[in-house]
Amino acid sequence: MKIRTIATVVSAVTLALCAIGVIAQAPRPSPYPVTAARAFTFEKIADGVFYATSTGAMATGSNIPVIVNDRDVLIVDTGTTPAAARALVEDLKTITDKPVRYVVNTHFHYDHTDGNSVFADTADIIAHEYVRYAILNLDVLHREPFKTSQLTNVPNRIDALKRQLADEKDAARRATLERQLATAETGWKQLEEIKPTPPNMTYSSKMVLNRGAREIQLLFLGRGHTRGDTVVFLPKERIVCTGDLMESTLAYMGDAMFDEWLTTLDALKKLDFDLVLPGHGVPFKEKSRITAYQSYLRDLMTQAADLRKQGVPADDAARRVDLTSHRTDFPEIQRPGADIRGVRRLYEWMDERK
Ligand SMILES: [Zn+2]
Repeated sequence: MKIRTIATVVSAVTLALCAIGVIAQAPRPSPYPVTAARAFTFEKIADGVFYATSTGAMATGSNIPVIVNDRDVLIVDTGTTPAAARALVEDLKTITDKPVRYVVNTHFHYDHTDGNSVFADTADIIAHEYVRYAILNLDVLHREPFKTSQLTNVPNRIDALKRQLADEKDAARRATLERQLATAETGWKQLEEIKPTPPNMTYSSKMVLNRGAREIQLLFLGRGHTRGDTVVFLPKERIVCTGDLMESTLAYMGDAMFDEWLTTLDALKKLDFDLVLPGHGVPFKEKSRITAYQSYLRDLMTQAADLRKQGVPADDAARRVDLTSHRTDFPEIQRPGADIRGVRRLYEWMDERK
């Protein structure tokens, strides 16, 4: 374990691009004190408030805000597998000896909830009521985003690494590839243990937890990224944890309610905060980043509606939309096109709106 004032943590942007979290990651500088454990690195954001990101040693899923209270710990989301959640519990011992008693799921997607089973007997798992509905009714291990991001992409990555390894002669590069392959194969095995576990406690618009001196607000600001996203707001610390409702990178759109997402982001901007801890990416301060994401969504909606009017099918539209003008705000946009699952959902949403 190392504690430094200025240190580097792995690029959460890279993690977001590869939700399974097994690709090589470049370190990024952190302005916060950093504690590096085995699977997770903890940035100390404020007194008792940490931001956990993957070290790259295993597939961990989303970034996890950790809130240490007088007697207990609340974590925001549980990662991508029970193995990742157990690793988190182990790594948390480097920053606190208090037990995790509260888990908040920001939404139902696998990279935020598939570690839930680890906490089912020892913590309250709290989420918007839609999260419970979704985990109980949507057959989440046989639908998107789990289907492509895990069931398709992980074996594809294993095959690709094997092919690269077969052609690689350089010893150092071979060692890196072998390490990446081992991580990916372990990650694949760890999926078998997943048991979708719904929250045992739900709310519909607002829930407040007072844990000692800490006030923790769970807010449903409206539908958007899914039909039931929670933001975790710490009014005294002026910090908001936004899950994937607002990332510092582009979010998955396959379950989106597009017009409502814009309105919900307006409501987010009205909260009195100084810092956003997103589900993927890096902590950020600027509300202008939220406006930039709204502008990206609006542009995508307009372009997709035009293409649809011309009779272009969703899958072609996903290749043809051009959002490269948003590259300054979202550098991961390298070329025209958008995630096919998001554009399919956008077409479906346009049908629903009729
Ligand atoms: Zn996510």
